[in-house]
Amino acid sequence: MVPMILPWQEAAWERLTQGLPTLHHALLLAGPAGQGKRQFAEAAAWRLLCEAPSPRRFACGECVGCQWLRADNHPDLLRLVPEQESEGSEEAEGKEAGKAKSHQIRIDQVRALTPVLAVSSHRGGRRVIIVDPAEAMNPFTANALLKLLEEPPAGVVFLLVSAQPMRLLPTLRSRCQRWDFPLPEADAVLAWLRAHHPQTPAELLDLVGGAPLTAAALAEKGGQALRERLVADLRQRPPADPVRLAGQWENWLRSKEAQGAGLDMATLVAWVQRWVTDVASVRLGGSARYFPDQARPLAALAGVMSVADALACYNEFIALRRVAQHPLNPRLMLEDMLIRYGRMLGGGG
Ligand SMILES: [Zn+2]
Repeated sequence: MVPMILPWQEAAWERLTQGLPTLHHALLLAGPAGQGKRQFAEAAAWRLLCEAPSPRRFACGECVGCQWLRADNHPDLLRLVPEQESEGSEEAEGKEAGKAKSHQIRIDQVRALTPVLAVSSHRGGRRVIIVDPAEAMNPFTANALLKLLEEPPAGVVFLLVSAQPMRLLPTLRSRCQRWDFPLPEADAVLAWLRAHHPQTPAELLDLVGGAPLTAAALAEKGGQALRERLVADLRQRPPADPVRLAGQWENWLRSKEAQGAGLDMATLVAWVQRWVTDVASVRLGGSARYFPDQARPLAALAGVMSVADALACYNEFIALRRVAQHPLNPRLMLEDMLIRYGRMLGGGG
């Protein structure tokens, strides 16, 4: 299958195909996760390596270049991705396997490019290097890549994909031409979901903050049931006993359902934070953004809380989220979070 772009990427695609003759040698595709930057980078790589494209369209899918791409071994397409992702991802779901190193692009991956780029391309055309996600480089690795960007070999195009461009080395950022990929409008997203992922409920799109690919993937893996359980646990009044609920949630995170859907500690804390954000927002006179279908329980919870508590709790959850990436003790982390939540609602006493 020739990779295509998503409907909300038409303008960026136009920019790419119109600007091909003078295309910058390093593009930073930046924008929130889950709206198809990776897919765009693939479509762009194919288009750049296709040997018989029609001017405004996608790769032809038939030429020698496209056949190489189809077989996933085009010698002029190189990928810098974290090892864990390149090795069929989900396999290494164990706790120890997910250590920081495998989430990173390693410096020797970047260094290995130098001899490759020193000779000309295999097919005599462009070469494309996808760096995804670009923020998965430590400063040393990023510096090694920077050297390549400073003296780019002719015909090489770097496509850096990043959901967190502010975490990139500023010098690296400044060498790239930034292409922004904002989250698409809700109407466009809902139309696309209806056509391609009709089983994705709007509630999941709200939960993930409007990122269509994230919502669709979550729905496919049973995300709706996870969301329902979360809501049922959080809207209890008085709040559930934090120690007991923490124990249940710890088991929940270990369950097949949760792991299959990618519900890990960081995601769970993010979801609770969104719930708290909605409670606080309702308390402050606004409306719910992530759980708009839960207006009544949110209002009931907001009613028992002071504005100061709402703000304090919201801030505490921002701090918690930082720790949630690598909690030393998951059970304590959950208890801590739920005790804070209960306190915000005047529970636990
Ligand atoms: Zn082709």
